[in-house]
Amino acid sequence: MHVLPQQPSAKGPAEMFTGDVYFDIICKGEEPSRLRANTVRFAPGARTAWHCHAVGQTLHVTEGIGLVQVRGGGVLEMRPGDTVYTPPGEWHWHGAAPAHFMTHLALWEAPAPDADVPESEWGEHVTDAEYNAH
Ligand code: MN
Repeated sequence: MHVLPQQPSAKGPAEMFTGDVYFDIICKGEEPSRLRANTVRFAPGARTAWHCHAVGQTLHVTEGIGLVQVRGGGVLEMRPGDTVYTPPGEWHWHGAAPAHFMTHLALWEAPAPDADVPESEWGEHVTDAEYNAH
């Protein structure tokens, strides 16, 4: 075994996020594991852009109040203790509620090495109109 020292928090890039989002890598999975786990912290109003994950993703809210939406669905609220699963290829976004910080764990896997697909696909930013449809 080995202990991995904590790394600096990384700012979520503006191409993929609206507002202030920081993530801490918990694990990247060492081969043959494909596990990925991050703690992600969103400031009020901050959210991901629309995106999907090749092997799906599990979110687990640890703090605050969050919002999540699947393409074509309504904006749903998520709270500490809630777990949200998005299946492979399902387009969605997640973020903080307008007046609350939100922290979630993000758990996902890289695709199998022989699957010639990107780990995640990223699309357009979530507009204020989409975000405020809550
Ligand atoms: Mn996601």
